[in-house]
Amino acid sequence: MNNHSHKNNNDEINLIKQQLPDWLANSRKRCADGKVAGYIPELAKANSDSLGIHIIDAAGNSITAGDCGIPFTMQSISKVFTLLLALMDNGEDLVFDKVGMEPTGDHFNSMLKLELVQPSIPFNPLINAGAIAISSLIKGENAGEKNNRILDFFKQLANNDSLAYNDAVFQSESHTADLNRSMAYFLKDKGILRGNVDDILNVYFRHCSIDVTCADLARMALVLAFDGKDPLSGIQHIPRRYVQIAKTFMVTCGMYNASGQFAIQVGLPAKSGVAGGILTLVPGKFGIGVAGPALNAKGNSIAGVHLLETLSQNLKWSLF
Ligand code: GLN
Repeated sequence: MNNHSHKNNNDEINLIKQQLPDWLANSRKRCADGKVAGYIPELAKANSDSLGIHIIDAAGNSITAGDCGIPFTMQSISKVFTLLLALMDNGEDLVFDKVGMEPTGDHFNSMLKLELVQPSIPFNPLINAGAIAISSLIKGENAGEKNNRILDFFKQLANNDSLAYNDAVFQSESHTADLNRSMAYFLKDKGILRGNVDDILNVYFRHCSIDVTCADLARMALVLAFDGKDPLSGIQHIPRRYVQIAKTFMVTCGMYNASGQFAIQVGLPAKSGVAGGILTLVPGKFGIGVAGPALNAKGNSIAGVHLLETLSQNLKWSLF
């Protein structure tokens, strides 16, 4: 990096530091228009007014605002990283035998296209059906071993040894997930899933229930922003090609069936989860973690999306 780009980066960081509290306060007002997810009963306990953000750069500078110390479960954000692990375990050919590369335009837990479009493979790895298929591809002798490998991988990427499963959320989802169960049995019938459906769902619900803070998401995003290499440790965690695949899915499918709108308004690869988290990144610059449990109708953090729109528009972050 030359001096000029260093200066630009510092100018940008100073501007963010100055403006972020105001931008966050303004976005927080949107929380009132959203609703905390209730279909997993444990998630309904979250505070619907909360909003936090953590931005980290390659030198380790962190900028935070709002309620960024509160842990929340990753939910669908974990799907990006289980996809990466499945690619590292199996290679592209095997993974894309089981999941497609296209957005659905449907809700994240819709089964509609599974039967409608032949062959019956999930459209992409970021919808529930696709992520369940991906969970079945993680290497390990049994569910416990697969869970340990996933958690270890996430710990490395977040540079946080204390990441752990949230047992209450795991139990809550396991007891109420009839829709995901029906999807998994359908996929087994079609030969997409091999093995014991309960074990595969155990792996899926477990990785959705990993507790993180905005800081963890930001650090994991930073690895993606630098093509699989953590710029702070210098460790290449993931091959560049697989990060390219994951980031492309984040642009086309990461915000569910609002991914087109998010690409127009924000223009960055991102992935959201129903606990209100959003992981996003500015390539070569920043990793970003956002959390705001009040969701819009598509299941994305309503205030979180607004805050990212504000940041992207003011800092000209859109890639397009
Ligand atoms: N565990 C959640 C589910 O399967 C994840 C969904 C999400 O975050 N959109 O319903």
